[in-house]
Amino acid sequence: MKHGYLIDMDGVLYRGSKLIPGADHFVKQLLARDIPFMFLTNNSQRTRRDMVAKLGRMGIQVEEKHIFTCAMATARFLAHQKPGGTAFVIGEGGLLAALHRNGYAVVDHKPDYVVIGEGRTFNLEQVEAAVNMVQEGAKLIATNMDPNCPTQNGIRPGCGAMVSMVEKATGVEAFSVGKPSPIMMRAARKELGLTTAETTMIGDTMETDILGGVQLGFNTVLVLSGGTKKEDLQEYAYRPDVIVDSLAEYTQLLEESEWHTPCPSPGLLPELVAVAG
Ligand SMILES: [Mg+2]
Repeated sequence: MKHGYLIDMDGVLYRGSKLIPGADHFVKQLLARDIPFMFLTNNSQRTRRDMVAKLGRMGIQVEEKHIFTCAMATARFLAHQKPGGTAFVIGEGGLLAALHRNGYAVVDHKPDYVVIGEGRTFNLEQVEAAVNMVQEGAKLIATNMDPNCPTQNGIRPGCGAMVSMVEKATGVEAFSVGKPSPIMMRAARKELGLTTAETTMIGDTMETDILGGVQLGFNTVLVLSGGTKKEDLQEYAYRPDVIVDSLAEYTQLLEESEWHTPCPSPGLLPELVAVAG
């Protein structure tokens, strides 16, 4: 059966700038076997080209077509909702480039939308401007609502933490396009030319990767190489189909099934039941 993968990046392929062992081998196998895949990231900071360069430095050689960011999803969504619109942006290159490419003008006066993504240049002046624009009727859009992101030293505040300031100040709830929103996850699946049943989502975050995958009916694989520990799973009302330590372990499972089944059923693999607890 044809199948393919949507793969989260942070906590799955790398943490910060450090490759997670086995991730490079997994991607090489997908390329060698002509299995369709796309990296799906809730980080809006970088462009596709930036991401290809970052992965290349870590030994993962892919092309721009393999990258799908929440910045791209957000820009395409806005271009569809209101073609040729304007946006005030708190964010960086990846988001600005995606908006421009989709026919949006970036302005600092009376925008149609206030769009917030990640960035390290976030400041209170921008937040104050955003708050006033939302008060005057601009729609509040978040590229994603991740409260934090894993780094090699622990965590850093995510886009959701920044969006919360504007939400709190205005009393307006942001509309978020990134994972787990079906807007982003379905768009990526369609771009790969896969059906729902042919799609497997691999990620390290229950609230985004796994929740989105479960809601859309994808197969789901949780890797424990990022922000989630096995004991955290009891807090959730939903669970992934497969739980593995990392992509290295998932590669082993696929090799055992000769890469035929994207998600070996726990019923068929007793050791997997043990892993899933
Ligand atoms: Mg992640």
